[in-house]
Amino acid sequence: ATAPLGSSVISLVNRLQDIFARVGSQSTIDLPQVAVVGSQSSGKSSVLEALVGRDFLPRGNDICTRRPLVLQLVQTKRKPNLDNNDEYGEFLHLPGRKFHDFSEIRREIQAETDREAGGNKGVSDKQIRLKIFSPNVLDITLVDLPGITKVPVGDQPSDIEARIRTMIMSYIKTPTCLILAVTPANSDLANSDALQMAGIADPDGNRTIGVITKLDIMDRGTDARNLLLGKVIPLRLGYVGVVNRSQEDIQMNRSIKDALVAEENFFRNRPVYNGLADSCGVPQLAKKLNQILAQHIKAVLPGLRARISTSLVAVAKEHASYGEITESKAGQGALLLNILSKYCEAFSSMLEGKNEMSTSE
Ligand code: GDP
Ligand code: MG
Repeated sequence: ATAPLGSSVISLVNRLQDIFARVGSQSTIDLPQVAVVGSQSSGKSSVLEALVGRDFLPRGNDICTRRPLVLQLVQTKRKPNLDNNDEYGEFLHLPGRKFHDFSEIRREIQAETDREAGGNKGVSDKQIRLKIFSPNVLDITLVDLPGITKVPVGDQPSDIEARIRTMIMSYIKTPTCLILAVTPANSDLANSDALQMAGIADPDGNRTIGVITKLDIMDRGTDARNLLLGKVIPLRLGYVGVVNRSQEDIQMNRSIKDALVAEENFFRNRPVYNGLADSCGVPQLAKKLNQILAQHIKAVLPGLRARISTSLVAVAKEHASYGEITESKAGQGALLLNILSKYCEAFSSMLEGKNEMSTSE
């Protein structure tokens, strides 16, 4: 499965990073982190999974995510004559062990959750760190977080709500963190924990995307058109509505691929969502994230260029010190740095004015 997330940014980042590697430069593009916030069972883990395009997160109509899961996607080199079977996961707490079976990854997340937070619905702020290596992803960090709950159950302390809020805030307050504020369509947007917390962490709404889940199980006679249009609660970066797999789909092992087809049909068959193509479906959410990532790359390019120019001057000096030897390493380095600098310039102007890089697919 190819990851919809970042697919259009991958080639851009790749081309730049290839050149960085060739000139031996330490410069890289650090993409911002993406975190999900919302109430328990609003569909946060489902949304992250759909974005990654693989099944591996514990999901369900109970508290499933009980520790923060920091998911680092790491892009590996594509091997020409192989299928995509070289995707695997590795946990920080189990160094050296490669998980090729993604359902085993899910079982390990559950087991490791129990080890720290106990087996009876306890919550812990101690992270689980998982890296997914794949040629189909871009280097980005996604954070799956426990949802907000109000009433303590099982081994949860009486101040469970405050504790979870503090935990969530510690992630989303970071100015570079993109926030996916997840609210189910079958609850009132005005009571959305996600929008409330995102509003505190990001009052200007520069890094919050509204995600409305469960469009398929809204009360009969209601729809999410006005929510998606931002007419109920406006949000600068807007909303995307999605249909994830239901609990029954999970029990029947429905694949992500089938779910995406079902989602597409859902929107196609409902006239009320006509003309809202930009805010409907997981692929649109991925696209929105891509656009924001492309903007981010644009913003960091001038800094990269400055660093490259500095190296260029240093290499040119070294070059000069060699006199006439043009085949030298330093000479080649200078040439490559020059090319790289031009590349950055070209990308900057491409991303300038029109946003074609990120929108054309
Ligand atoms: P989280 O607690 O916010 O991470 O929520 P999960 O992703 O674990 O989902 C909670 C429950 O809601 C699961 O049973 C999911 O199958 C179900 N669910 C999530 N999104 C949707 C949706 O769009 N439609 C339907 N029908 N069920 C959904
Ligand atoms: Mg979850």
